Amino acid sequence: MKKVAVVGTGYVGLVSGTCFAQVGHRVVCCDIDRRKIDLLKSGVIPIYEPGLEELVSSNAEAGRLSFTDDVAAAIRESEVVFIAVGTPMSETGEADLTYVKAVAKTIGENLNGYKVVVTKSTVPVGTGRIVARTVADSRPDAGVPFDVVSNPEFLREGSAIADCIGMERAVIGASSDKAAQIVAELHEPFDTTIFITDLESAEMIKYAANAFLATKISFINEIANLCERVGANVSEVSAGVGLDSRIGSKFLQAGIGYGGSCFPKDTEALKAIAAGKGYEFKIIDSVIEINHRQRMVMLDKLLEALGGLRGKQIAVLGLAFKPNTDDMRYAPSLDLIPAMFGFGASVKAYDPVAIPEASKLLPDDTEYGAGVYETVRGADACLILTEWSEIKEMDLARVRDLLRNPVIVDGRNCFDLNVMEALGVTYYSVGRPVVGADKHAEQAVV
Ligand code: NAD
Repeated sequence: MKKVAVVGTGYVGLVSGTCFAQVGHRVVCCDIDRRKIDLLKSGVIPIYEPGLEELVSSNAEAGRLSFTDDVAAAIRESEVVFIAVGTPMSETGEADLTYVKAVAKTIGENLNGYKVVVTKSTVPVGTGRIVARTVADSRPDAGVPFDVVSNPEFLREGSAIADCIGMERAVIGASSDKAAQIVAELHEPFDTTIFITDLESAEMIKYAANAFLATKISFINEIANLCERVGANVSEVSAGVGLDSRIGSKFLQAGIGYGGSCFPKDTEALKAIAAGKGYEFKIIDSVIEINHRQRMVMLDKLLEALGGLRGKQIAVLGLAFKPNTDDMRYAPSLDLIPAMFGFGASVKAYDPVAIPEASKLLPDDTEYGAGVYETVRGADACLILTEWSEIKEMDLARVRDLLRNPVIVDGRNCFDLNVMEALGVTYYSVGRPVVGADKHAEQAVV
Protein backbone atom coordinates (compact mmCIF):
# COMPACT_ATOMS: atom_id res chain seq x y z
CA MET A 1 0.00 0.00 0.00
CA LYS A 2 1.34 3.42 -0.95
CA LYS A 3 1.41 6.91 0.51
CA VAL A 4 -0.38 9.12 -1.95
CA ALA A 5 -1.00 12.87 -2.15
CA VAL A 6 -3.72 14.17 -4.42
CA VAL A 7 -3.26 17.87 -5.15
CA GLY A 8 -6.57 19.47 -6.11
CA THR A 9 -9.65 18.22 -4.26
CA GLY A 10 -12.33 18.89 -6.86
CA TYR A 11 -14.61 16.43 -8.67
CA VAL A 12 -11.65 14.33 -9.85
CA GLY A 13 -9.19 14.71 -6.98
CA LEU A 14 -11.75 14.04 -4.26
CA VAL A 15 -13.30 11.03 -5.97
CA SER A 16 -10.09 9.41 -7.14
CA GLY A 17 -8.33 10.11 -3.82
CA THR A 18 -11.24 8.55 -1.94
CA CYS A 19 -11.24 5.52 -4.23
CA PHE A 20 -7.48 5.02 -3.78
CA ALA A 21 -8.13 5.09 -0.02
CA GLN A 22 -11.03 2.69 -0.41
CA VAL A 23 -8.72 0.05 -1.95
CA GLY A 24 -6.27 0.45 0.93
CA HIS A 25 -3.81 3.22 0.07
CA ARG A 26 -3.04 6.01 2.52
CA VAL A 27 -4.24 9.18 0.84
CA VAL A 28 -4.01 12.84 1.70
CA CYS A 29 -6.18 15.11 -0.44
CA CYS A 30 -4.97 18.69 -0.47
CA ASP A 31 -6.23 21.94 -1.91
CA ILE A 32 -5.44 25.63 -1.70
CA ASP A 33 -9.15 26.27 -1.20
CA ARG A 34 -9.27 26.37 2.57
CA ARG A 35 -13.07 26.53 2.67
CA LYS A 36 -13.26 23.24 0.78
CA ILE A 37 -10.76 21.57 3.10
CA ASP A 38 -12.54 22.87 6.21
CA LEU A 39 -15.84 21.50 4.92
CA LEU A 40 -14.26 18.11 4.19
CA LYS A 41 -12.62 17.98 7.60
CA SER A 42 -16.02 18.54 9.17
CA GLY A 43 -17.55 15.76 7.07
CA VAL A 44 -19.31 18.00 4.54
CA ILE A 45 -18.80 17.16 0.86
CA PRO A 46 -18.48 20.36 -1.18
CA ILE A 47 -19.84 18.79 -4.39
CA TYR A 48 -22.87 16.66 -5.17
CA GLU A 49 -21.81 13.16 -6.16
CA PRO A 50 -23.97 10.16 -5.24
CA GLY A 51 -22.33 7.79 -2.74
CA LEU A 52 -19.32 10.03 -2.10
CA GLU A 53 -20.23 11.20 1.38
CA GLU A 54 -20.42 7.67 2.81
CA LEU A 55 -17.15 6.65 1.17
CA VAL A 56 -15.30 9.74 2.36
CA SER A 57 -16.49 9.33 5.92
CA SER A 58 -15.74 5.58 6.15
CA ASN A 59 -12.23 6.03 4.77
CA ALA A 60 -11.53 9.07 6.93
CA GLU A 61 -12.68 7.10 10.00
CA ALA A 62 -10.44 4.19 9.00
CA GLY A 63 -7.50 6.62 8.92
CA ARG A 64 -6.76 6.05 5.24
CA LEU A 65 -8.04 9.41 3.99
CA SER A 66 -7.20 12.88 5.28
CA PHE A 67 -7.51 16.47 4.09
CA THR A 68 -5.20 19.43 4.35
CA ASP A 69 -4.56 22.85 2.90
CA ASP A 70 -0.86 22.39 3.64
CA VAL A 71 -0.01 21.23 0.12
CA ALA A 72 3.75 21.28 0.78
CA ALA A 73 3.47 18.95 3.78
CA ALA A 74 1.19 16.57 1.87
CA ILE A 75 3.77 16.36 -0.93
CA ARG A 76 6.70 15.83 1.41
CA GLU A 77 5.11 12.88 3.16
CA SER A 78 4.05 11.05 -0.04
CA GLU A 79 5.72 8.75 -2.50
CA VAL A 80 3.22 9.32 -5.30
CA VAL A 81 1.82 12.81 -5.95
CA PHE A 82 -1.18 13.26 -8.21
CA ILE A 83 -1.87 16.57 -9.92
CA ALA A 84 -5.67 16.82 -10.17
CA VAL A 85 -6.22 20.56 -10.53
CA GLY A 86 -8.42 22.22 -13.11
CA THR A 87 -7.29 22.86 -16.68
CA PRO A 88 -10.05 25.25 -17.77
CA MET A 89 -10.56 26.54 -21.28
CA SER A 90 -8.60 29.72 -21.92
CA GLU A 91 -10.05 32.51 -24.05
CA THR A 92 -8.30 31.09 -27.10
CA GLY A 93 -9.66 27.59 -26.49
CA GLU A 94 -6.41 26.08 -25.23
CA ALA A 95 -6.18 24.30 -21.89
CA ASP A 96 -5.00 26.78 -19.25
CA LEU A 97 -2.03 25.14 -17.51
CA THR A 98 -1.56 27.80 -14.83
CA TYR A 99 -2.70 25.54 -11.98
CA VAL A 100 -0.79 22.49 -13.22
CA LYS A 101 2.44 24.49 -13.48
CA ALA A 102 1.90 26.01 -10.02
CA VAL A 103 1.50 22.54 -8.50
CA ALA A 104 4.56 21.23 -10.39
CA LYS A 105 6.59 24.07 -8.87
CA THR A 106 5.32 23.29 -5.36
CA ILE A 107 6.18 19.62 -5.89
CA GLY A 108 9.71 20.58 -7.02
CA GLU A 109 10.19 22.85 -4.01
CA ASN A 110 9.18 20.02 -1.69
CA LEU A 111 11.02 17.17 -3.35
CA ASN A 112 12.60 15.59 -0.27
CA GLY A 113 13.16 12.16 -1.83
CA TYR A 114 12.23 10.09 -4.90
CA LYS A 115 8.62 10.69 -5.94
CA VAL A 116 6.43 9.83 -8.86
CA VAL A 117 4.60 12.91 -10.11
CA VAL A 118 1.40 11.82 -11.81
CA THR A 119 -0.71 14.16 -13.92
CA LYS A 120 -4.36 13.18 -13.68
CA SER A 121 -5.68 16.50 -14.98
CA THR A 122 -6.54 16.53 -18.69
CA VAL A 123 -3.58 18.23 -20.32
CA PRO A 124 -2.28 18.82 -23.85
CA VAL A 125 0.40 16.58 -25.25
CA GLY A 126 3.76 17.78 -24.03
CA THR A 127 2.57 18.85 -20.58
CA GLY A 128 4.28 15.90 -18.89
CA ARG A 129 7.59 17.25 -20.17
CA ILE A 130 6.71 20.74 -18.91
CA VAL A 131 5.85 19.28 -15.49
CA ALA A 132 9.18 17.39 -15.47
CA ARG A 133 11.13 20.56 -16.32
CA THR A 134 9.28 22.63 -13.74
CA VAL A 135 9.82 20.07 -10.97
CA ALA A 136 13.49 19.71 -11.92
CA ASP A 137 14.07 23.47 -12.02
CA SER A 138 12.44 24.15 -8.65
CA ARG A 139 14.16 21.32 -6.72
CA PRO A 140 16.28 22.62 -3.85
CA ASP A 141 18.66 19.71 -4.52
CA ALA A 142 19.26 18.79 -8.16
CA GLY A 143 20.36 15.33 -7.07
CA VAL A 144 16.92 14.25 -5.82
CA PRO A 145 15.37 11.97 -8.43
CA PHE A 146 11.75 11.86 -9.59
CA ASP A 147 9.70 10.57 -12.49
CA VAL A 148 6.66 11.89 -14.28
CA VAL A 149 3.62 9.90 -15.34
CA SER A 150 0.46 10.75 -17.24
CA ASN A 151 -2.56 8.93 -15.81
CA PRO A 152 -5.65 10.58 -17.31
CA GLU A 153 -8.97 10.25 -15.53
CA PHE A 154 -12.05 8.84 -17.25
CA LEU A 155 -14.68 9.06 -14.51
CA ARG A 156 -18.04 10.68 -15.24
CA GLU A 157 -19.73 13.00 -12.80
CA GLY A 158 -22.90 11.44 -11.46
CA SER A 159 -21.45 7.92 -11.56
CA ALA A 160 -17.93 8.83 -10.53
CA ILE A 161 -17.51 6.32 -7.71
CA ALA A 162 -18.63 3.34 -9.79
CA ASP A 163 -16.49 4.57 -12.70
CA CYS A 164 -13.45 4.89 -10.47
CA ILE A 165 -13.78 1.71 -8.39
CA GLY A 166 -14.79 -0.28 -11.48
CA MET A 167 -12.50 1.54 -13.92
CA GLU A 168 -12.34 -0.09 -17.35
CA ARG A 169 -8.69 0.77 -17.83
CA ALA A 170 -5.84 2.65 -16.25
CA VAL A 171 -3.74 4.46 -18.82
CA ILE A 172 -0.21 4.97 -17.59
CA GLY A 173 2.19 6.99 -19.72
CA ALA A 174 5.52 6.98 -17.95
CA SER A 175 8.98 8.48 -18.25
CA SER A 176 10.57 5.35 -16.73
CA ASP A 177 9.76 1.66 -16.19
CA LYS A 178 10.14 2.15 -12.44
CA ALA A 179 7.47 4.88 -12.36
CA ALA A 180 5.14 2.86 -14.60
CA GLN A 181 5.52 -0.07 -12.21
CA ILE A 182 4.73 2.03 -9.13
CA VAL A 183 1.60 3.55 -10.68
CA ALA A 184 0.55 0.13 -12.00
CA GLU A 185 0.88 -1.32 -8.48
CA LEU A 186 -1.24 1.52 -7.18
CA HIS A 187 -3.99 0.40 -9.55
CA GLU A 188 -3.67 -3.34 -8.94
CA PRO A 189 -6.47 -3.52 -6.33
CA PHE A 190 -8.90 -2.11 -8.90
CA ASP A 191 -8.57 -5.30 -10.95
CA THR A 192 -8.52 -3.29 -14.15
CA THR A 193 -6.78 -3.41 -17.51
CA ILE A 194 -3.51 -1.56 -17.15
CA PHE A 195 -2.28 0.06 -20.33
CA ILE A 196 1.28 1.27 -20.15
CA THR A 197 2.50 3.62 -22.82
CA ASP A 198 4.65 6.70 -23.36
CA LEU A 199 3.81 10.10 -21.84
CA GLU A 200 2.67 11.78 -25.04
CA SER A 201 0.41 8.92 -26.12
CA ALA A 202 -1.26 8.78 -22.69
CA GLU A 203 -1.97 12.51 -22.87
CA MET A 204 -3.42 12.10 -26.35
CA ILE A 205 -5.56 9.08 -25.34
CA LYS A 206 -7.64 11.28 -23.04
CA TYR A 207 -8.33 13.89 -25.72
CA ALA A 208 -8.96 11.26 -28.38
CA ALA A 209 -11.44 9.43 -26.13
CA ASN A 210 -13.40 12.57 -25.23
CA ALA A 211 -13.34 13.88 -28.80
CA PHE A 212 -14.65 10.56 -30.08
CA LEU A 213 -17.51 10.51 -27.56
CA ALA A 214 -18.36 14.13 -28.39
CA THR A 215 -18.32 13.16 -32.08
CA LYS A 216 -20.84 10.38 -31.40
CA ILE A 217 -23.13 12.90 -29.69
CA SER A 218 -22.87 15.49 -32.45
CA PHE A 219 -23.31 12.77 -35.06
CA ILE A 220 -26.55 11.46 -33.59
CA ASN A 221 -27.80 15.02 -33.14
CA GLU A 222 -27.26 15.62 -36.84
CA ILE A 223 -29.14 12.40 -37.60
CA ALA A 224 -31.90 13.62 -35.23
CA ASN A 225 -32.23 16.90 -37.09
CA LEU A 226 -32.47 15.00 -40.34
CA CYS A 227 -35.02 12.59 -38.83
CA GLU A 228 -37.27 15.57 -38.09
CA ARG A 229 -37.11 16.59 -41.71
CA VAL A 230 -37.81 13.16 -43.18
CA GLY A 231 -40.33 11.84 -40.67
CA ALA A 232 -38.10 9.26 -38.97
CA ASN A 233 -37.78 8.76 -35.22
CA VAL A 234 -34.22 9.09 -33.91
CA SER A 235 -34.92 6.92 -30.87
CA GLU A 236 -35.74 4.04 -33.22
CA VAL A 237 -32.75 4.88 -35.40
CA SER A 238 -30.35 4.95 -32.42
CA ALA A 239 -31.71 1.65 -31.14
CA GLY A 240 -31.28 0.02 -34.53
CA VAL A 241 -27.85 1.48 -35.20
CA GLY A 242 -26.61 0.77 -31.68
CA LEU A 243 -27.29 -2.94 -32.07
CA ASP A 244 -24.23 -3.08 -34.32
CA SER A 245 -21.45 -4.05 -31.91
CA ARG A 246 -18.95 -2.09 -33.98
CA ILE A 247 -20.92 1.05 -33.10
CA GLY A 248 -22.54 0.31 -29.73
CA SER A 249 -25.57 1.98 -28.20
CA LYS A 250 -23.81 4.33 -25.78
CA PHE A 251 -23.55 8.04 -26.51
CA LEU A 252 -26.14 7.69 -29.25
CA GLN A 253 -28.97 9.54 -27.51
CA ALA A 254 -30.04 12.66 -29.35
CA GLY A 255 -30.61 15.77 -27.27
CA ILE A 256 -29.41 19.31 -26.74
CA GLY A 257 -25.77 18.43 -27.12
CA TYR A 258 -22.94 17.87 -24.71
CA GLY A 259 -21.99 20.19 -21.85
CA GLY A 260 -20.10 19.85 -18.61
CA SER A 261 -16.56 20.40 -17.51
CA CYS A 262 -14.90 18.09 -20.02
CA PHE A 263 -16.27 17.71 -23.55
CA PRO A 264 -16.62 21.42 -24.42
CA LYS A 265 -13.15 22.31 -23.17
CA ASP A 266 -11.44 19.14 -24.35
CA THR A 267 -12.78 19.41 -27.90
CA GLU A 268 -11.69 23.06 -28.00
CA ALA A 269 -8.29 22.12 -26.58
CA LEU A 270 -7.80 19.40 -29.20
CA LYS A 271 -8.73 21.89 -31.89
CA ALA A 272 -6.15 24.31 -30.45
CA ILE A 273 -3.50 21.56 -30.26
CA ALA A 274 -4.09 20.79 -33.95
CA ALA A 275 -4.07 24.47 -34.92
CA GLY A 276 -0.82 24.92 -33.00
CA LYS A 277 0.72 22.31 -35.27
CA GLY A 278 -0.78 23.88 -38.40
CA TYR A 279 -3.21 20.99 -38.81
CA GLU A 280 -6.86 21.52 -39.67
CA PHE A 281 -8.79 18.95 -37.61
CA LYS A 282 -11.98 19.11 -39.64
CA ILE A 283 -14.10 16.64 -37.69
CA ILE A 284 -13.53 18.36 -34.37
CA ASP A 285 -14.41 21.75 -35.90
CA SER A 286 -17.75 20.33 -37.06
CA VAL A 287 -18.43 18.54 -33.77
CA ILE A 288 -18.03 21.82 -31.88
CA GLU A 289 -20.14 23.81 -34.33
CA ILE A 290 -22.94 21.22 -34.34
CA ASN A 291 -22.99 21.22 -30.56
CA HIS A 292 -23.40 25.01 -30.38
CA ARG A 293 -26.20 24.89 -32.92
CA GLN A 294 -27.99 21.99 -31.23
CA ARG A 295 -28.65 23.96 -28.05
CA MET A 296 -30.48 26.60 -29.98
CA VAL A 297 -32.63 24.01 -31.76
CA MET A 298 -34.68 23.85 -28.56
CA LEU A 299 -35.22 27.58 -28.66
CA ASP A 300 -36.52 27.31 -32.22
CA LYS A 301 -38.97 24.64 -31.07
CA LEU A 302 -40.22 26.84 -28.23
CA LEU A 303 -40.62 29.79 -30.57
CA GLU A 304 -42.53 27.60 -33.00
CA ALA A 305 -44.73 26.07 -30.28
CA LEU A 306 -45.69 29.42 -28.74
CA GLY A 307 -45.47 31.64 -31.82
CA GLY A 308 -42.91 33.87 -30.07
CA LEU A 309 -41.75 34.30 -26.49
CA ARG A 310 -42.55 37.92 -25.66
CA GLY A 311 -44.49 38.03 -22.39
CA LYS A 312 -44.46 34.23 -22.06
CA GLN A 313 -43.47 32.40 -18.91
CA ILE A 314 -41.28 29.35 -19.43
CA ALA A 315 -40.82 26.67 -16.79
CA VAL A 316 -37.35 25.17 -17.14
CA LEU A 317 -36.88 21.73 -15.61
CA GLY A 318 -33.25 20.77 -15.05
CA LEU A 319 -30.29 23.15 -14.96
CA ALA A 320 -27.20 20.98 -14.43
CA PHE A 321 -25.45 19.74 -17.56
CA LYS A 322 -26.57 16.21 -16.73
CA PRO A 323 -28.42 14.37 -13.96
CA ASN A 324 -26.86 13.46 -10.60
CA THR A 325 -24.47 16.39 -10.50
CA ASP A 326 -24.56 20.02 -9.43
CA ASP A 327 -21.88 20.88 -12.00
CA MET A 328 -23.03 23.83 -14.10
CA ARG A 329 -19.92 24.17 -16.26
CA TYR A 330 -21.03 24.68 -19.89
CA ALA A 331 -24.56 23.52 -19.05
CA PRO A 332 -27.00 24.18 -21.94
CA SER A 333 -29.23 26.09 -19.49
CA LEU A 334 -26.55 28.79 -19.32
CA ASP A 335 -27.06 29.53 -23.03
CA LEU A 336 -30.78 28.86 -23.31
CA ILE A 337 -32.12 30.81 -20.33
CA PRO A 338 -30.42 34.11 -21.25
CA ALA A 339 -31.57 33.55 -24.85
CA MET A 340 -35.17 33.16 -23.68
CA PHE A 341 -34.93 36.39 -21.70
CA GLY A 342 -33.55 37.96 -24.87
CA PHE A 343 -36.77 36.99 -26.68
CA GLY A 344 -38.85 38.64 -23.96
CA ALA A 345 -39.79 35.57 -21.90
CA SER A 346 -39.68 35.23 -18.15
CA VAL A 347 -38.18 32.07 -16.69
CA LYS A 348 -38.88 30.02 -13.60
CA ALA A 349 -36.47 27.12 -13.20
CA TYR A 350 -36.05 24.04 -11.07
CA ASP A 351 -33.25 21.55 -10.54
CA PRO A 352 -33.09 18.97 -7.75
CA VAL A 353 -29.55 19.99 -6.68
CA ALA A 354 -27.97 22.62 -8.96
CA ILE A 355 -29.95 25.77 -8.04
CA PRO A 356 -27.28 27.13 -5.62
CA GLU A 357 -24.61 26.85 -8.34
CA ALA A 358 -26.93 27.90 -11.16
CA SER A 359 -28.16 31.03 -9.39
CA LYS A 360 -24.58 32.37 -9.39
CA LEU A 361 -24.43 32.09 -13.17
CA LEU A 362 -27.93 32.71 -14.54
CA PRO A 363 -29.54 36.13 -15.10
CA ASP A 364 -30.72 37.78 -11.87
CA ASP A 365 -34.29 37.82 -13.19
CA THR A 366 -34.47 34.02 -13.17
CA GLU A 367 -36.95 32.74 -10.61
CA TYR A 368 -36.50 29.35 -8.96
CA GLY A 369 -39.24 26.89 -8.07
CA ALA A 370 -39.23 24.66 -5.00
CA GLY A 371 -40.22 21.61 -7.06
CA VAL A 372 -41.43 20.46 -10.47
CA TYR A 373 -45.11 21.23 -9.90
CA GLU A 374 -44.64 24.66 -8.36
CA THR A 375 -42.34 25.56 -11.26
CA VAL A 376 -44.74 24.58 -14.05
CA ARG A 377 -47.82 26.16 -12.44
CA GLY A 378 -49.23 28.80 -14.78
CA ALA A 379 -46.35 28.60 -17.27
CA ASP A 380 -46.94 28.92 -21.01
CA ALA A 381 -44.62 26.01 -21.71
CA CYS A 382 -42.30 23.63 -19.96
CA LEU A 383 -38.75 23.15 -21.27
CA ILE A 384 -36.86 20.07 -20.09
CA LEU A 385 -33.07 20.46 -20.10
CA THR A 386 -31.81 17.72 -17.75
CA GLU A 387 -33.14 14.17 -17.51
CA TRP A 388 -33.15 13.81 -13.72
CA SER A 389 -35.19 10.78 -12.56
CA GLU A 390 -37.45 13.16 -10.65
CA ILE A 391 -38.28 14.88 -13.94
CA LYS A 392 -38.61 11.68 -15.98
CA GLU A 393 -40.94 10.29 -13.32
CA MET A 394 -43.08 13.41 -12.78
CA ASP A 395 -46.86 13.10 -12.92
CA LEU A 396 -47.42 14.24 -16.49
CA ALA A 397 -51.18 14.66 -16.15
CA ARG A 398 -50.61 16.97 -13.18
CA VAL A 399 -48.02 18.93 -15.12
CA ARG A 400 -50.43 19.24 -18.05
CA ASP A 401 -53.15 20.54 -15.75
CA LEU A 402 -50.86 23.03 -14.01
CA LEU A 403 -49.50 24.55 -17.24
CA ARG A 404 -51.41 27.46 -18.74
CA ASN A 405 -50.78 25.89 -22.16
CA PRO A 406 -50.13 22.15 -22.29
CA VAL A 407 -46.85 22.56 -24.20
CA ILE A 408 -43.78 20.52 -23.28
CA VAL A 409 -40.50 20.96 -25.15
CA ASP A 410 -38.14 18.15 -24.18
CA GLY A 411 -34.44 18.46 -24.95
CA ARG A 412 -33.72 14.99 -23.55
CA ASN A 413 -36.38 12.77 -25.14
CA CYS A 414 -37.63 11.73 -21.70
CA PHE A 415 -41.09 10.56 -22.70
CA ASP A 416 -42.79 8.06 -24.96
CA LEU A 417 -44.60 9.68 -27.88
CA ASN A 418 -47.72 7.51 -27.43
CA VAL A 419 -47.99 8.48 -23.77
CA MET A 420 -47.76 12.15 -24.69
CA GLU A 421 -50.31 11.74 -27.46
CA ALA A 422 -52.76 10.07 -25.06
CA LEU A 423 -52.17 12.86 -22.56
CA GLY A 424 -53.28 15.47 -25.04
CA VAL A 425 -50.25 17.73 -24.72
CA THR A 426 -48.26 19.40 -27.45
CA TYR A 427 -44.93 17.68 -27.18
CA TYR A 428 -41.75 18.62 -28.99
CA SER A 429 -38.69 16.45 -28.53
CA VAL A 430 -35.47 15.89 -30.49
CA GLY A 431 -35.44 13.97 -33.76
CA ARG A 432 -38.97 12.64 -33.26
CA PRO A 433 -42.32 13.67 -34.68
CA VAL A 434 -44.13 16.50 -32.89
CA VAL A 435 -47.11 15.24 -30.91
CA GLY A 436 -50.42 17.02 -30.47
CA ALA A 437 -49.94 20.03 -32.70
CA ASP A 438 -52.12 19.57 -35.77
CA LYS A 439 -50.12 22.01 -37.80
CA HIS A 440 -47.11 19.76 -37.41
CA ALA A 441 -48.81 16.58 -38.45
CA GLU A 442 -47.70 16.87 -42.06
CA GLN A 443 -44.09 17.18 -41.01
CA ALA A 444 -44.13 13.67 -39.58
CA VAL A 445 -45.68 12.12 -42.63
CA VAL A 446 -43.58 12.38 -45.73
P1 NAD B 1 -12.29 21.19 -10.10
O1 NAD B 1 -12.29 22.60 -10.54
O2 NAD B 1 -13.54 20.58 -9.55
O3 NAD B 1 -11.15 20.99 -8.99
C1 NAD B 1 -9.86 21.50 -9.09
C2 NAD B 1 -9.35 21.80 -7.68
O4 NAD B 1 -7.97 22.14 -7.76
C3 NAD B 1 -10.07 22.97 -7.01
O5 NAD B 1 -10.60 22.54 -5.77
C4 NAD B 1 -8.95 24.00 -6.80
O6 NAD B 1 -9.10 24.76 -5.64
C5 NAD B 1 -7.73 23.11 -6.74
N1 NAD B 1 -6.45 23.80 -7.00
C6 NAD B 1 -6.17 24.72 -7.95
N2 NAD B 1 -4.88 25.10 -7.85
C7 NAD B 1 -4.34 24.40 -6.83
C8 NAD B 1 -3.04 24.35 -6.25
N3 NAD B 1 -2.04 25.10 -6.71
N4 NAD B 1 -2.82 23.51 -5.22
C9 NAD B 1 -3.83 22.76 -4.74
N5 NAD B 1 -5.09 22.75 -5.25
C10 NAD B 1 -5.33 23.57 -6.27
O7 NAD B 1 -11.77 20.37 -11.35
P2 NAD B 1 -12.17 18.86 -11.76
O8 NAD B 1 -13.49 18.81 -12.41
O9 NAD B 1 -11.88 17.95 -10.61
O10 NAD B 1 -11.10 18.59 -12.92
C11 NAD B 1 -9.72 18.41 -12.64
C12 NAD B 1 -9.05 17.89 -13.91
O11 NAD B 1 -9.55 16.59 -14.22
C13 NAD B 1 -9.28 18.75 -15.14
O12 NAD B 1 -8.13 18.74 -15.93
C14 NAD B 1 -10.41 18.01 -15.85
O13 NAD B 1 -10.38 18.23 -17.23
C15 NAD B 1 -10.07 16.58 -15.54
N6 NAD B 1 -11.22 15.67 -15.57
C16 NAD B 1 -12.41 16.07 -15.03
C17 NAD B 1 -13.49 15.20 -15.02
C18 NAD B 1 -14.82 15.60 -14.46
O14 NAD B 1 -15.80 14.91 -14.69
N7 NAD B 1 -14.90 16.69 -13.70
C19 NAD B 1 -13.36 13.91 -15.59
C20 NAD B 1 -12.13 13.52 -16.10
C21 NAD B 1 -11.07 14.43 -16.09
